Amino acid sequence: MFTSIEGRSVIVTGGSKGIGRGIARVFASAGANVLITARDDDALSTAAVELSGLRGKVTTLSVDVADPAACREMVNAAVERHGGLDVMCANAGVFPSCRLEDLGPADLDGVLDVNFKGTVYSVQAALPALTASGRGRIVITSSITGPITGYPGWSHYGASKAAQLGFVRTAAMELAKRKITINAVLPGNIKTEGLDGMGQQYLDRMAAAVPQGRLGAVADIGNAALFLATDEAGYITGQTLVVDGGQVLPESADALDEI
Ligand code: NAP
Repeated sequence: MFTSIEGRSVIVTGGSKGIGRGIARVFASAGANVLITARDDDALSTAAVELSGLRGKVTTLSVDVADPAACREMVNAAVERHGGLDVMCANAGVFPSCRLEDLGPADLDGVLDVNFKGTVYSVQAALPALTASGRGRIVITSSITGPITGYPGWSHYGASKAAQLGFVRTAAMELAKRKITINAVLPGNIKTEGLDGMGQQYLDRMAAAVPQGRLGAVADIGNAALFLATDEAGYITGQTLVVDGGQVLPESADALDEI
């Protein structure tokens, strides 16, 4: 049995939609008070309504994680609203498709500014409050794309997700004395509104590539993040947790057919 995280203070960046909203739901259902952030106020308000009535409180703040000052305001807001900060879920991300021959400086900056620098800024801003917590936890949403797999059109995205892991490993060493752990969850294909828009045929093809035969649910990522935030996970740091229904395992299409 895990120690309850009831009453803990949590930030989820990119919490207005998709995986981030799923992470927020899991933590708030477990009784944590969650600040969800993103850029679009309307989407945040809609998410806040959907996440109301859970055991923990969910509030919102408009934040662009590519802006270090905005990240500091985000942490100040969580400290003011919840009396401190225990868990930073750095989840915000973008994944525009662009083939290698078309990649320009603006494409690279657009992805790295949010996915990599936004992760670093969110973590940096949280350090004083997580240190004061005495049991600070950082959970990064990376991806199988980049660290393990590739997908045409996502070379810059994959690089940004791999960069997060390089960051995690050294940050874990620097943060160990502060009793802060930092780990990354690597989702496979997770069913979000964005993916729904691709049509049923696409969803079926993606599910067929997963040994478990289904796409992931946002709660699958939320549950992994919740585990890494527990007291019992306190000796785990600098690590990656793949949550993909076995998607990265088949060594060939034939291997999948043999299941
Ligand atoms: P999503 O549904 O598009 O949600 C992305 C969230 O990030 C939104 O809340 C978005 O809100 C926010 N965001 C984007 N840019 C931001 C910025 N500059 N500042 C603050 N917030 C920002 O995407 P998702 O599929 O849930 O992806 C979430 C994370 O999971 C990403 O890091 C992604 O790389 C990772 N991931 C997803 C999958 C998957 O299958 N879905 C697989 C592997 C990894 P605003 O646009 O309003 O800012």
